[in-house]
Amino acid sequence: MARNTGPVCRLCRREGVKLMLKASRCETARCAMERQWRAQPPGMHAWRRRKEGEFLKRLREKQKVKRYYGVLERQFLVYVQAAEREKGNTGEALLRLLERRLDNAVYKLGFAASHPSARQVVTHGHIYVNGRRVDRPGYLVRPGDRVTVKPAGRSEKLVRAALGEGPPPVQAWLQLDPQKLEGVVVALPGRDDVQIPVEEHLIIEFCSR
Ligand code: SF4
Repeated sequence: MARNTGPVCRLCRREGVKLMLKASRCETARCAMERQWRAQPPGMHAWRRRKEGEFLKRLREKQKVKRYYGVLERQFLVYVQAAEREKGNTGEALLRLLERRLDNAVYKLGFAASHPSARQVVTHGHIYVNGRRVDRPGYLVRPGDRVTVKPAGRSEKLVRAALGEGPPPVQAWLQLDPQKLEGVVVALPGRDDVQIPVEEHLIIEFCSR
């Protein structure tokens, strides 16, 4: 379960979009994307004009989605292959698979303040699915699954603190009971549930080269 351990604000600056990887800081003026001199790509030659070719455009779309969901290259390609086996639009199938990741569902339910902390909450064993502990952030939730918090003081305190920070509005494919700390997956996520601007067809074109 490898993950990116480098500085995360650089990732937003590189992609030119707020990926919301630092919880409450992302909403404040301390966000690097809110500062004019920092909102440019990282690196000492960032001021140079770059040639925006078709390859670069497609590469950036792929990197943006990978970084938003916290997925590394090899695992991402597995998702692309799985999406290609599904019926319908491959790009949308890819986004649907990524949305169904357990760490994403935990984040969208407000049980954690960002994707990286949702991943940590899951890997540390604070989350149960249908009454059983699941510590794999890449577990794919399905309609009917019940996502709950481990019945232990520490786990509940952790999740209530995240909910207290102002949970994101829960999306239509999830149902939240904040008293019981329980979320239910009521449907498959749709294209509109993806919260960053993305042109998924460019990702599929990049991966099908
Ligand atoms: Fe950093 Fe969050 Fe701003 Fe991204 S959105 S630059 S992670 S503070």
